[in-house]
Amino acid sequence: MSTWLRNVRLEIGETTYEDGSIQTVTDLFHIQVAKEGIQTILLATENIPVEDAIDMEGKLALPAFKEMHNHLDKTYLSLGWRACRPVKNLSERLALEAVELEELAETAEQRASAMIEMHLSNGVNHIRTHVNIDPFIKLKNLEGVKKALKAYEDYLTYEIVAFPQHGLLAHEEVPDLLRQALASGATILGGLDPAGIDKDIEKSLQLTMDIAKEYDVDVDMHLHDRGQVGFYTMDKWLDMVKEQDYMRSTAFSHAFGLSKLTPPMQKRFSKKMREHNVEIMSTIPISINSQLIPIDIMRAEGVKVALGCDGFYDSWSPYVPGDVLEKVHNFCDYTGKSDERSLRESLSLITQGVIPLNGEGVQVWPMVGDEASFVFVDASCSAEAVARLPKDRQLMQKGMLYK
Ligand SMILES: [Zn+2]
Repeated sequence: MSTWLRNVRLEIGETTYEDGSIQTVTDLFHIQVAKEGIQTILLATENIPVEDAIDMEGKLALPAFKEMHNHLDKTYLSLGWRACRPVKNLSERLALEAVELEELAETAEQRASAMIEMHLSNGVNHIRTHVNIDPFIKLKNLEGVKKALKAYEDYLTYEIVAFPQHGLLAHEEVPDLLRQALASGATILGGLDPAGIDKDIEKSLQLTMDIAKEYDVDVDMHLHDRGQVGFYTMDKWLDMVKEQDYMRSTAFSHAFGLSKLTPPMQKRFSKKMREHNVEIMSTIPISINSQLIPIDIMRAEGVKVALGCDGFYDSWSPYVPGDVLEKVHNFCDYTGKSDERSLRESLSLITQGVIPLNGEGVQVWPMVGDEASFVFVDASCSAEAVARLPKDRQLMQKGMLYK
């Protein structure tokens, strides 16, 4: 079974003008898609043999987006409006969260579904979600999030991180709860501030490594610890990866300990991260109190960087942007990227590196045989999509349109 899409706009190259400015060149195509992948791509001037093709009316096709740091279990979406309660520090925030966890666990599936639908309509076809595994609700949120994700699995793929939000060492039952989570649907082991929360960097990292090896899973740690402590934690983990022959990959989420290093140090440590197969997950925090981590330096050194919306509209934040494309937009704005090439290249932060044109402006996507997963947007090219954030988007996952 295949479907023809008429009049799809694809980026095919670029024009460089005499003044040095660059413009992306596009053309319209008919594309035959199926569950197995893209079967045919024809110029729209050619006739296609079917009447019931879907007319995409010149919409631009981009690779579908990946949301790589999210908390489907925390959102208030689908419940009534609630603002946040102010706190003085992370420990107070955690204490407040603990109080409402049990009440919220009852609606985990419903709230996660509302957030998944928001991501799908924004063009996301892959979600990495952290799910609380804690002494208050144990595996209850995991059950709700698993059900919600399963219901939408025709439209997205997903990874679930077993996340010790209330610490790995502070409550003695947490390590075994994490083991249970990894045995019942969680696919990645999480972690949280071995210094700031667990207050014993070596012990926390060692237990994380032991459990990850026991279940042969990747690790994705929340590292909010700043300055030297945050950096030491990452450096120590990479030494342990080498010494203990940990073969799976590591993600550092937030990684604020990188922001205050000098650029030469950032470059050196990026090399070490690349050698140890580390991926960085950022939410592009651009509030006045945050300093962005060195994403451009890390990427130039070959470190994979991906983005996510993190928690939104929950006890941590009252805001509901929930759009990974907006994260790319914020990143470009904050780092002063305004030319055609750097805007369109930044899209790779939310597509696992896949973009229509390579660094020389040569078309590399989509090709016959590629997965037929797209987001269709009202934009003339990907640079415009990043800069102008088109609202109406339509997701296609493996040949099937979402709504
Ligand atoms: Zn998070």
